[in-house]
Amino acid sequence: MIFELNAYGKINLGLDVLRRREDGYHEVKMIMQTVKVYDKLEFCDIDDDKIELSANMPFLPVGEDNLIYRACDLIKKDYGIKRGVRIKLNKHIPVAAGMAGGSTDAAAALIGMNKLFGLKISEDKLMDYGLKLGADVPYCIMRGTALSEGIGEVLTKLPPIPSCYILIAKPPISVSTKMVYENLHADRLTYHPDIDGMIEAIHAKDLRKITDRMGNVLETVTIDRYPIIADIKDIMIEGGAMNSLMSGSGPTVFGIFEDEDRARSVMRYLRNNRYVKQAFVVLPFNVGYMDR
Ligand code: ATP
Repeated sequence: MIFELNAYGKINLGLDVLRRREDGYHEVKMIMQTVKVYDKLEFCDIDDDKIELSANMPFLPVGEDNLIYRACDLIKKDYGIKRGVRIKLNKHIPVAAGMAGGSTDAAAALIGMNKLFGLKISEDKLMDYGLKLGADVPYCIMRGTALSEGIGEVLTKLPPIPSCYILIAKPPISVSTKMVYENLHADRLTYHPDIDGMIEAIHAKDLRKITDRMGNVLETVTIDRYPIIADIKDIMIEGGAMNSLMSGSGPTVFGIFEDEDRARSVMRYLRNNRYVKQAFVVLPFNVGYMDR
């Protein structure tokens, strides 16, 4: 059997950190939104008992360090599968960018293994497997607009946000999520975004109120080291974005626009002036893996 799955990236419309737990994990309160930037994964079953992964970018690991490999291995071992899988990864989501690229590939790998070997694993159980691979993987299985709490595993589905154009721009720097959380002093934060207010605005389908409430406490750490992020935010707002924010631990910046032409013109400006190489104007995406 051969088939392809799209693994979509995400942005955080809101990201708050409530506290650092004794075990080192951070308790978060985030508004997640899937966007139409995606990696493609092609799955094929093979007779040999192996996981063969290849990728279109030479710097990506293709062994145990790749979350796709780990997801396949987890399912193969738990279900005693003696056959193998060949996966071709076509990466388009910026890497180490705060868009959950690795996590969404892991989610697609779990969904793909379920389908390839006819395992009939429920979505809830796939999410439990996902959590073993990374805090954002359960959300990447769920997709759409959601509130994410705990360390990312307590998920509440929200209605889709109103239609808008999202300009995504990744400056040419890589940011390690681990570094950002290690340098965050959760107990010393003086600002917290109004996540509850944003949830109300999402229910009210009020894009202006949603964008007014955008905020990300991780900006304090990442922008401090990479001021280009603040420059890109300013350019987006001057160019007509309703608001602009860093996604996750960065460095990707996104802006929400009502007008597609304005979003595209800011995208061109950012590219032409070498603020970013990777920039896209995309729509929010709210179709789950299990939706028909
Ligand atoms: P998040 O938003 O979840 O913090 P991120 O965008 O910051 O994710 P990723 O793109 O997931 O970061 O990649 C971080 C690192 O993980 C990469 O440097 C890479 O070595 C490793 N990695 C493992 N599997 C993958 C994968 N399938 N795709 C991309 N990177 C992967």
